[in-house]
Amino acid sequence: MSKIQMTTPLIELDGDEMTRVLWPIIKEKLIEPFVDLKTEYYDLGMKHRDDTDDQVTIDAANAIKKYGVGVKNATITPNQERVEEYDLKKQWKSPNGTIRAMLDGTVFRKPILVNNIKPAVKSWKKPIAVGRHAYGDVYRNAEIKAESGGKAEIVFTDHNGNETRETIMELEGPGVIQGMHNTDESITNFAKACFEYCLSENIDCWFATKDTISKIYDQTFKIIFEKVFETEYKDKFDSAGISFFYTLIDDVVARMMKTEGGMLWACKNYDGDVMSDMVASAFGSLAMMSSVLVSPYGYFEYEAAHGTVQRHYYKHLKGEKTSTNAVALIFAWTGALKKRGELDGLPDLSDFADKLETVIIDTIEDGFMTGDLAAICNPPAKEVLDSTQFLDELAKRLEKVL
Ligand code: NAP
Ligand code: MG
Repeated sequence: MSKIQMTTPLIELDGDEMTRVLWPIIKEKLIEPFVDLKTEYYDLGMKHRDDTDDQVTIDAANAIKKYGVGVKNATITPNQERVEEYDLKKQWKSPNGTIRAMLDGTVFRKPILVNNIKPAVKSWKKPIAVGRHAYGDVYRNAEIKAESGGKAEIVFTDHNGNETRETIMELEGPGVIQGMHNTDESITNFAKACFEYCLSENIDCWFATKDTISKIYDQTFKIIFEKVFETEYKDKFDSAGISFFYTLIDDVVARMMKTEGGMLWACKNYDGDVMSDMVASAFGSLAMMSSVLVSPYGYFEYEAAHGTVQRHYYKHLKGEKTSTNAVALIFAWTGALKKRGELDGLPDLSDFADKLETVIIDTIEDGFMTGDLAAICNPPAKEVLDSTQFLDELAKRLEKVL
């Protein structure tokens, strides 16, 4: 069998610990036998980020800007312990944060469903993707603790010195005050990233705020989303047969509990913080959660939603067997390969990625899985596999369907 050819390289960002152990095995067993894999490799492993003063992270982000699609392994965000463990020059910033800032991207997370792990919400049949606006609001706020009564105001001074003033409250006694902001630019980019993601996944977009109560702040989100949709995306959505639905946040929460799923839930920053954890937990496992960074300029970076699985790595270093679930990592690869296939007009490549995903689902549904899933699946697992046994099982089955 001849290998599937690629025309444009994927930007490959390697990472740390257990996920770094699994990364080359995934390529070697599941991709390279079938695809003439072209990548441009960037080593974002902790040591190499330190050696290059984190320049490698910037280079990798620029490469994604140049070629359009990246696939990223999980990386350590160093804290003081890591500085000592890896003898680092300093506590480097989160690579995900650096890349997100450079691509101006939004992260979308989507559960990977199998029929032997039931979502906690009975009606959910299809994945619910959550897109969280990652700028501003309460995460960049200013707060004051008023120790006595007094007048609380917000004041905005424009570049010409003109002041706009609004009384928040005449406090009769001690209390708390908070000021927050967002920008039209960031909200616009968030809206674009959401609509790009929906087109890329062919799913509806649901967005909600509390605009009935917050008649300026939340209303601005609503207006910008509607404007971006009407001017840039309505026709594209119509041709794709998907829709944009706006409602109030409490209404969307109530509806979410009754839907079959299968949409993007675009969330303001705080809503996304809270709801993404609820959705992830209700669907079962972080190792069954795919994640993609979508930039409003049409760049994509695929990754797993989990971290470097440090605890398993230390076991691995001691020579013990691990049962680390590689599904989300493999879905990072299949997502990236599919996107490359779509952009480069290589249906065979996209088709290969689809088949690999199907093999993974079938394998788990047939009862072969790693320990994390065995703990939550019903009917019980037939075989609980270690990290590499699971990849071997996938490789064996993949060979048969190709
Ligand atoms: P983690 O790597 O997500 O792992 C937390 C726990 O979740 C694991 O100990 C394991 O539970 C379970 N788990 C996660 N992924 C799994 C998988 N694929 N298969 C089986 N079980 C899995 O989070 P962490 O241990 O808190 O963080 C480790 C490092 O990852 C940190 O240095 C952090 O900076 C980094 N991190 C990176 C990213 C990223 O690059 N996207 C995201 C988050 C964290 P059990 O131990 O119970 O088996
Ligand atoms: Mg959270």
